[in-house]
Amino acid sequence: MKNMLSKNLIGYSLLLFFILILSGAILYTTVTNLYVLLAVLVIEFIILILALFHFFEKYVKPIDKASETMDKLLQGNYHARIHQQMNGSIGELSTKINSLARNLSELTIQEQIQAEQLSTVIENSESGLVLIDEKGYIHVVNRKFISMFGKTPQDYIGYLYYDVLENEQIHHTVQETFLYEKHVKHLFSISENEERTYLEIVGAPIFNERNMLKGAVLVIYDITEFKLLEVMRKDFVANVSHELKTPITSIKGFAETLLDGAAEEPEAREQFLNIIYDESKRIQLLIDDLLILSNLEKDESDINLNPVEVGFMLEDIFPLIKQQAEKKEIEVHVDADEELIFEADEEKIKQILLNLLTNAISYTPEKGSIFLKVKDSGDNVCIQVKDTGIGIGKEALPRIFERFYRVDKDRSRDTGGTGLGLAIVKHIVEVHYGEIKVESELGKGTTFSVYIPKESQQ
Ligand code: ADP
Repeated sequence: MKNMLSKNLIGYSLLLFFILILSGAILYTTVTNLYVLLAVLVIEFIILILALFHFFEKYVKPIDKASETMDKLLQGNYHARIHQQMNGSIGELSTKINSLARNLSELTIQEQIQAEQLSTVIENSESGLVLIDEKGYIHVVNRKFISMFGKTPQDYIGYLYYDVLENEQIHHTVQETFLYEKHVKHLFSISENEERTYLEIVGAPIFNERNMLKGAVLVIYDITEFKLLEVMRKDFVANVSHELKTPITSIKGFAETLLDGAAEEPEAREQFLNIIYDESKRIQLLIDDLLILSNLEKDESDINLNPVEVGFMLEDIFPLIKQQAEKKEIEVHVDADEELIFEADEEKIKQILLNLLTNAISYTPEKGSIFLKVKDSGDNVCIQVKDTGIGIGKEALPRIFERFYRVDKDRSRDTGGTGLGLAIVKHIVEVHYGEIKVESELGKGTTFSVYIPKESQQ
């Protein structure tokens, strides 16, 4: 465009110059006076220069400016604009170039925002992501993938997947995705520092607009937590079955013996019926505890928060505890801020007290002592149950809140324990956003301290 203009300008100049010479020649033949001839020529020359200057200012300069701006736009500088005021068709052209530049710059901003959003999603995805082209070169790996398989993005991007990805299962997934051109899913595990991580990999083919395979995207999910939950669920079912098996076998055995004729002997009948009664009580206790646990887990937020007055709460549970303690001649010392009021689910807090106090009585030899404290401790209510019992060994302490964990299985069964008491306590403390601590020394005793926020955290 610029060249064309320059050519035009030279053309116009030559044309005007030619007119100047021609008019000079005509004048020469008509005007005899040399001075007049020279004056006319000078005037014509000045007019010619002014005409050229006007032409340059009006057309060449604006078009030069427009061409310069277009060059900048072509180079990707979408902030370039024509600032010169122009009229007519050149003015219209510059307005159009400016609005084109504005549109381009808006488009680039939008594109940048979209690219940033996409890369934020990819980078912050909780699944590992890998993008591979149809030739097998890796184009994208995200942060999660790096955290799963190590190295840096530079170690993967631009390389063939089978050269840099060590895991065989990933190779299979890529090959199958390319081969079958459809979603492929596999499970596998990796180990690092003796820690096993379970992964699920999904390979998805990518097609272009002509439906030709363009590459594949691999999505890798960490399913370790689900696996552990599955193991826990299986263990739980196995434990419940095991817990039920002993009393049911016993009930069945004694009922059969009674049916076989033992019912005729009054002494044996009474003894066997008592055993059947005790075993069925054990089953009932277990089922009661299982129901408490399942209700707690069903809807964790379903707690009935109300103002609880310590004095009234203790009055309700004390007769039960006193009865159990008296059987073993255990002294129960209570030190409580009776007027203290806090916000909690009263029935559930009573359950905590009952479970901790029952345990304290169960695991304290006859004539021992139990100390119950319910005290204001700043933002919390502190419930402390201390006994002078058998204590818990250091290695067992971290496990006592697990379901069905018992330090001494036989002793727990003899005391009618289900192995779920402390699991229930811990759960109730958690739904109240509280905390539970335990200190113990073998042969000396155990202290459980529960902290429940005085004001509900919900
Ligand atoms: P259990 O029904 O067997 O008492 P828990 O869940 O209440 O089950 O307690 C788990 C285990 O923790 C018990 O089997 C027992 O070994 C130990 N334990 C709990 N409380 C005490 C305590 N006060 N003194 C000694 N051991 C305790």
